[in-house]
Amino acid sequence: MRCANLWPGGGGRVDIVKGNMGWIEVIVGPMFSGKSEELIRRLRRAEIARQRVQIFKPVIDQRYAANEIVSHSGLGIRSDLVREAREVLEKVEPRTEVVGIDEAQFLGEELVSVCTKLADMGKRVIVAGLDTDFLGRPFEPMPRLLAVAEEITKLLAICVRCGNPAVHTQRLVASDELIVVGAGGMYEARCRRCFEPQPAQEKADAEKHTTARPKAIST
Ligand code: ADP
Ligand code: ZN
Repeated sequence: MRCANLWPGGGGRVDIVKGNMGWIEVIVGPMFSGKSEELIRRLRRAEIARQRVQIFKPVIDQRYAANEIVSHSGLGIRSDLVREAREVLEKVEPRTEVVGIDEAQFLGEELVSVCTKLADMGKRVIVAGLDTDFLGRPFEPMPRLLAVAEEITKLLAICVRCGNPAVHTQRLVASDELIVVGAGGMYEARCRRCFEPQPAQEKADAEKHTTARPKAIST
């Protein structure tokens, strides 16, 4: 029998697990809140316990290394790239006991059923991802994954403006695309007071109008 975390009292954390039952743990928060660090920490501990671990991240996030999850502070762990959630199911080996997934918000709505299947197979599934987008809206499919998870960890970053707990990811570049991948200089952590979703949006709208204006045709 496999044992989960030894956590007195239970209260919201997986503590007693019998008969090879699987479960889902989700780590959410804004960028720079330490999601990757926490994911790597949990996966390293599982490896130290000699459990079979497989780690996945979406192809879209190639910030640092193709076959590695790397945190903003430089911690790393090897990982497999996947294009969509169902690829995790295809690549996962029957003997694997712990499945880690980073940047899960990019894997689409099928992520929820994929994680459910993995947990039903008896695997511990640890998923990290952004729970809100650049406008502060719930970032699907993370909210639905939270609903079916056994354990949820919400992390906060530090607001770069005022030092308060930061729940938001502030986009600094003008774009109304949901996904603009990057870290250095493109995003920063902001608290609810300092978060300015509109400037990013308004700037993007203004630029769109400028470029959308029909060009004068010279004859
Ligand atoms: P996430 O996966 O949530 O984006 P990471 O685990 O990659 O976060 O990085 C967390 C690390 O980022 C912190 O331990 C810290 O060293 C660094 N960091 C940089 N900026 C901030 C910030 N504004 N608030 C908190 N940590 C920050
Ligand atoms: Zn602030």
